[in-house]
Amino acid sequence: MRGVIMYAPGDVRVEDRADPEIIEPTDAVIRITATCICGSDLWPYRGVEPVEGPTPMGHEYIGIVEEIGPDVADIAVGDFVVGSFFASDNTCEICRAGYQSRCVHNVPMGSIGTQAERARVPLADGTLVTVPGTPGPEQYPGLLAASDVLGTGWFAAVAAEAGPGKTVVVVGDGAVGLLAVLAAKQLGADRIIAMSRHADRQALARKFGATDIVEERGKAGVARIKELTGGLGAHSVVEAVGTQESMMQAIRATRAGGHVGYVGVAHDVELDGMGLFFSSVHLHGGPAPVRRFLPGLIDLIVRGEIDPGEVFDLTLPLEQAAQGYRAMDERRATKVLLTV
Ligand SMILES: [Zn+2]
Repeated sequence: MRGVIMYAPGDVRVEDRADPEIIEPTDAVIRITATCICGSDLWPYRGVEPVEGPTPMGHEYIGIVEEIGPDVADIAVGDFVVGSFFASDNTCEICRAGYQSRCVHNVPMGSIGTQAERARVPLADGTLVTVPGTPGPEQYPGLLAASDVLGTGWFAAVAAEAGPGKTVVVVGDGAVGLLAVLAAKQLGADRIIAMSRHADRQALARKFGATDIVEERGKAGVARIKELTGGLGAHSVVEAVGTQESMMQAIRATRAGGHVGYVGVAHDVELDGMGLFFSSVHLHGGPAPVRRFLPGLIDLIVRGEIDPGEVFDLTLPLEQAAQGYRAMDERRATKVLLTV
């Protein structure tokens, strides 16, 4: 089969890879119908994370089950499925508490590489959710978004306790930040302030439910949020970048007693204990337990209540993945869908 391999920062190729096979009795093999490039794939692409030799890429996927192991009971061959970027058993104590991304048996799908024609999915019964009916290609972008960016944005909004009566600030205007805006809207937030300085992303944020846009960043951005919230700061702040500046911007934009939901993969972020102590904010985040939200999100998408697929602004065939990485790296695209 064909699949994406990263050789070194900036060096992405599509090559022949071995076809996946059932290894564990709880595995499934799926034929991928669409996959995509994640903002987090840019960390190694830009050399911020090391690339240890040729590495299969990708952790977002939708597809059709082709084969199942003998212990798979709930997923059947022919099912159209969505899974998240961590395989999870969905039965351990951590999973049952809703934190499937930290499942005691978790397997990161990034270690398997779903930017490919097929993939092995471990713990298939716990990981995969079957989509009712037979989704058409027009539904692929929305369902694929559920696999990571929508689920992650949704978790961030839930972790930040977005809801009725709340002012929500979203730091970060990538796909996750934009979909956190959509989630905050669905969760009933009164006011949603998107922090963005890109006109096209501002427009999509407004379409998803943002009521205000703040272009300032850092201290100036925090000052602007304070101005908009009677000097108090927001009730709920989503951090969807993962840098020192974005994390501090999120914490400082939150009022005492408020909640920060952080989902940007943290790179060199250090928190000052005394500053944190006197901020009196709740911090809750990490790798999103997307599996917790998948059934509900799939339902919203299938019923046409939300259209998260709008975050994809470039579609390329898998063979042209390198162009997709370049477009996202150069910020010419927010999120790239790869057709298979
Ligand atoms: Zn588990």
